[in-house]
Amino acid sequence: MNGDMKEILKKSIKNVKGVGDARAKLFHKLGIFSIEDLITHFPYDYEDRSNIKKICQLTEGESCTFEGIIMSKVTERKIRQGLTLYQAYIKDDTGTIIATWYNQPYIKKVLTVGESYIFYGKIVRGYKTLEVQNPVYEKACKEEHKNTMKIVPVYHATANLTQNTIRTVMQNALELVDGNLEDVLPLWVRKKYCLCDINYAFSNIHFPRNDGDIKNARYRLVFEELFLLQLGLLSVKTVLSDGKEGIAFAPNRKEMVDFINSIGFTLTNAQKRVWEEIEKDMESNRVMNRLVQGDVGSGKTIVAALALAKAVKSGYQGAMMVPTEILAKQHYESLKDIMGKHGINVALLVGSQTKKQRSEILSKIESGEVNIVIGTHALIEEKVKFSKLGLVITDEQHRFGVRQRAMLSNKGINPDILVMTATPIPRTLALILYGDLDISIIDELPPGRKPVKTYAVDNSMRQRINNFIKKQILEGRQAYIICPLVDESDEIEAKSALKTAEKIAKEDFKDFRVGLLHGKMPAGEKEEVMQKFLKGEIDILVSTTVVEVGVNVPNATLMVVENAERFGLAQLHQLRGRVGRGPHQSYCILYNESKSQIAKERMKVMQETTDGFVISEKDLLIRGPGEFFGTRQHGLPDLKIANLYRDMEILKKAQEAAQEILKRDRNLFMEENLKLKEKIAEKFIEKIHDVSLN
Ligand code: ADP
Ligand code: MG
Repeated sequence: MNGDMKEILKKSIKNVKGVGDARAKLFHKLGIFSIEDLITHFPYDYEDRSNIKKICQLTEGESCTFEGIIMSKVTERKIRQGLTLYQAYIKDDTGTIIATWYNQPYIKKVLTVGESYIFYGKIVRGYKTLEVQNPVYEKACKEEHKNTMKIVPVYHATANLTQNTIRTVMQNALELVDGNLEDVLPLWVRKKYCLCDINYAFSNIHFPRNDGDIKNARYRLVFEELFLLQLGLLSVKTVLSDGKEGIAFAPNRKEMVDFINSIGFTLTNAQKRVWEEIEKDMESNRVMNRLVQGDVGSGKTIVAALALAKAVKSGYQGAMMVPTEILAKQHYESLKDIMGKHGINVALLVGSQTKKQRSEILSKIESGEVNIVIGTHALIEEKVKFSKLGLVITDEQHRFGVRQRAMLSNKGINPDILVMTATPIPRTLALILYGDLDISIIDELPPGRKPVKTYAVDNSMRQRINNFIKKQILEGRQAYIICPLVDESDEIEAKSALKTAEKIAKEDFKDFRVGLLHGKMPAGEKEEVMQKFLKGEIDILVSTTVVEVGVNVPNATLMVVENAERFGLAQLHQLRGRVGRGPHQSYCILYNESKSQIAKERMKVMQETTDGFVISEKDLLIRGPGEFFGTRQHGLPDLKIANLYRDMEILKKAQEAAQEILKRDRNLFMEENLKLKEKIAEKFIEKIHDVSLN
């Protein structure tokens, strides 16, 4: 039975009654190919058509269900070209109402005078009486009604695929699997968390009889989705801190105060608080697993530097992994100075170094002569061996997978781990992504920062914006112009950085120095361009999003983003974070060519706030969690039913259950957990390991 059901679920939707080639294509547009895809195409809303009313009870503005007799022949009235009204009088023993349909000539044929029907539609105030607009109707009969007298699901649909069709097909699909879906959740989990049966859940999420059904079904399905996700994430985490004996670094508070006094500015209160949390973790003998979240520019680097210094002062080495060479180099330059004052030796390890340079650095790391290494993923290569690695930091965490983090920590013996992210993830998501990490938040910017002024514009403003850019440059500032990816075949219409740079250099800004930066350039070249920009030898840097992460050029005050509608909000926020880093007022110009409501709303969010947490929450509300990270960046599978905002409480329970199950059966070897294990492997593992290194 089980094996059979699995095969059935994998079958094409063409095996469902009512789905032929043409309809299948329409379903494909919704991402629905298999029967499993179909039944997990959950309703996003419901219409309660179960509450039948008398005509005298109908109220303006509401959608209502009522029964009535057709009193008159349907009349036809052409209002203007392309708009014809079809109307009929309907009565019951309490009153009359007019039903109006637009452009639906067949209505004349299907409704019979004197017959009784059930109607459902929106009630509006008409010329003389109330009217019901475009009502759904069904002959009143004894049998069960399909579209009225009940709660009906509302699905995401597409052109030519109506709600009615989806409902019918869904019903047919559920009949195919009815009662035979297997429950992957162990019985004790279901009992403990009061979860309903999986078959009940599927039939009631689609066709509930009342609100209670929806609630139960939804709770069960959301729980399962989040539970599997948690298990998936937790079971690939090789670095579990559970009871592992770690390093207890020396309690050298006095020495650290001296270090802090040498950095040239006063820590913000948020930095102080986070540093205290880290210091406490480092001094305890438990393995530290801490995430530091802080908006762009909140000053995470210095906090990382303190932790590295503390590790070194206790006789250990520290490593910091960052996603790009540019960033590695920048961190290296700034840390070298701070550390140098205290006799701490910092080295850089990146892919573009020569063999000779590299082998020299590698041997110094192995001998312990180098105390701190800053590098890209070059750090996780096998040849890199440490003498006594005690602290591992990953910056801009979202660019790395769990596995890469683990590979670096395995180069020491239970080193402490610090993970830094500037992607301001709402706490709910942080809990999911970093299930077993403690979280510290730097929620304050260093003093004196002027918020970046942000404007969303369209092409009609180009001349004015160009003049503004020129004015800024003549005042000595620099500008970024960001374009969507180079060479992505599906984004042909998008401005490519290359073309834009050419046009800008030759036309709009021919009197200025324009530089180009994109991900496909050799590392050395990228480096050179970035250095020139940093030194002020380039006025305008046309770039793809490679500048998104971390780079620091305080003299740049203008961030212009072409086709801003193509970027996620979180990404726009990161890009904007590249300016506003110096004493001058900075500006962010977002060119939005999209007329869509969502695009407009998103631009509005960017104009109204510079708080990364607010932005990411808004982004999650406007779009799904997948899109929030951008497909390239997120390591999460798409969630089909859970909403990370509304379902926080369920998430907590699911997380607790996942931890409990792993405590009982670390590798999910027990019979009762085998189905779970299979499902996790199928659903999540590949995707989690897929997180790109950029
Ligand atoms: P991010 O959190 O984005 O990584 P950085 O660590 O790069 O931010 O810090 C941004 C800038 O702010 C740097 O130039 C850094 O020297 C400066 N900075 C950090 N903390 C403070 C502080 N407490 N007071 C003043 N400037 C600070
Ligand atoms: Mg940073």
